Amino acid sequence: MSMEDYDFLFKIVLIGNAGVGKTCLVRRFTQGLFPPGQGATIGVDFMIKTVEINGEKVKLQIWDTAGQERFRSITQSYYRSANALILTYDITCEESFRCLPEWLREIEQYASNKLTVLGNKIDLADKREVSQQRAAEFSEAQDMYYLETSAKESDNARQNTLENNVSSPLPG
Ligand code: GDP
Ligand code: MG
Repeated sequence: MSMEDYDFLFKIVLIGNAGVGKTCLVRRFTQGLFPPGQGATIGVDFMIKTVEINGEKVKLQIWDTAGQERFRSITQSYYRSANALILTYDITCEESFRCLPEWLREIEQYASNKLTVLGNKIDLADKREVSQQRAAEFSEAQDMYYLETSAKESDNARQNTLENNVSSPLPG
């Protein structure tokens, strides 16, 4: 498939505190692997995956925020062209969930984009600090889609959640 061989291009941006698993999620989704050890930094701004949704080829450009997770340190232009923004937290880390309103303020100008709240690391459910109900209530109040996943123990259904997330802006 050549670079231009697609019907739609979607830019997806993952944001959230350092350590919640953004880089691992991107690699799981684009490469189907979970990086061993702590060496998750990929050193590129985005990764590409082309998927087929309703018979249309959709090129996904998934942007990671590598090491710039402090608020206001990411340029606003980074969010501007995003079709979907994914607010990521770690279900075993209360602090990462409590920071979501701050991340929301960071992107509020671009809230017309599709927003998703993603709770990662559900393979560590025994260490859960943020209940599903709490996350669902927060997301619903902001009119955001909410899901939980694991970059580590991903199955196809979980990988498909990112695709489902971008499928609704498509015609038909
Ligand atoms: P980032 O700072 O948000 O990019 O987070 P990373 O992707 O670098 O992940 C931070 C740490 O969490 C690393 O040690 C990963 O191995 C770990 N991690 C990421 N996703 C998961 C997950 O789904 N389950 C578990 N158990 N650990 C994860
Ligand atoms: Mg990272």
